[in-house]
Amino acid sequence: MRCALLSSALLVAAPAIAAEAPDPRVAGLVASVSEERLGHLVRSLEGFGTRHTLSATDTTGRGIGAARQWILEEMRRSSARLRVEFDAHAVLKQGERLTRDVELRNVVAVLPGRSPRRVYVTAHYDSVARPAGADRFDWSQADLPAPGANDDGSGTALVMELARAFGESGIDFDATLVFATFAGEEQGLVGATLHGKRAAAEGHRIDAVLNCDIVGNVAGGDGVSDASAVRVFSEGPEDSPSRQIARFVARQAAVYVPAHRVRLVARHDRFGRGGDHTPFNQLGIAGVRFSEARENYARQHTVADTADGVSPPYLARNARVVAAAAAVLVLAPPVPGVADERGRPLLDRGPTGYDARLRWTASPGATAYRVVWRPAWTPDWEHERAVGDATELVLPGVSIDDFVFGVAAVGAGGHESPVAAYVNPPRPPVDVLTKPTGP
Ligand SMILES: [Zn+2]
Repeated sequence: MRCALLSSALLVAAPAIAAEAPDPRVAGLVASVSEERLGHLVRSLEGFGTRHTLSATDTTGRGIGAARQWILEEMRRSSARLRVEFDAHAVLKQGERLTRDVELRNVVAVLPGRSPRRVYVTAHYDSVARPAGADRFDWSQADLPAPGANDDGSGTALVMELARAFGESGIDFDATLVFATFAGEEQGLVGATLHGKRAAAEGHRIDAVLNCDIVGNVAGGDGVSDASAVRVFSEGPEDSPSRQIARFVARQAAVYVPAHRVRLVARHDRFGRGGDHTPFNQLGIAGVRFSEARENYARQHTVADTADGVSPPYLARNARVVAAAAAVLVLAPPVPGVADERGRPLLDRGPTGYDARLRWTASPGATAYRVVWRPAWTPDWEHERAVGDATELVLPGVSIDDFVFGVAAVGAGGHESPVAAYVNPPRPPVDVLTKPTGP
């Protein structure tokens, strides 16, 4: 173990965090995302008339049965490297929205990496719409038109196109990629919940979930358009693993899709709305949601959610942001460990009592580390140090109380993991024994 000791003189300036150099292979993969195919996939998904989770499964070219079979075959056809299967669950009738028993099928394409640890790119392929002219849902009516071109045909097309692009890239990835399109999202995140629990029961390690839901519309319902940005929602608290994935997405997008802006939103999702990243978050898995910058609510969950409300060029830019983040996630080593087996941060004041001493556990495949820090009342990393293959760093005179610290692992190819942050664990409540009083 080597310890890097840095002069406090280096800490005076607050240099902008430099982006890592682009990898031409990742740049090529990102550029290979096809706007034309995305548009074709969205129109094809709309063409099933409805993809309602309880819709018919025995009608040719219409309903969720035809849609999931097409998604499966299209992903199988798009790359021989993908292992594409249904992930089926027998769901009982329950609540207001599941008005009968149903066999729910997610469509899952696995691109095996050298390591079994997984990174997910997800969307939901099911759709729902209020009957034309109605202001309420009728959950018993599953075969009415529900085009779902943007919600979430756009995300489904994105996942299918990235499955093709990654499968055909010829790149050998360290981690395993899973491209999943879920059903039952509109009934309460049902497909993602069941898949997440099954994956956890099977012992899969999932490092990140990139959920893409409503990612293709440019024109907001309030008349404001924005084709230049995508929002990324992530649950707190401020240094949660999901927030590190969000910061990581912004960092990689700046390298590989610099003309597109990533707008980070520090909340788990939009008010009153849900998404398939949340069941993973609830299992302790880091995950974020991508959504368009401006929404048109009149074209969600209505018969007006048609393909003319999806912009293929905008959807392609959003897809390239997701592709860049996913590619670096599966090329980089896993995040280093920054806490001991009891969850205590490997951070202390060092022998002087007034320095910041950071330690971390080596990440498999890492050849270097990058330490970052920032004042504890700011959202973005402001300082950084490359520290070679050390697993310890002392920052003289830096208060561990006034700054937040983190460390990322860097692989031989220069790809960098998300940051693992040193978190001050909450203090348990004090339980004081007192003498009983009163008569
Ligand atoms: Zn949705």
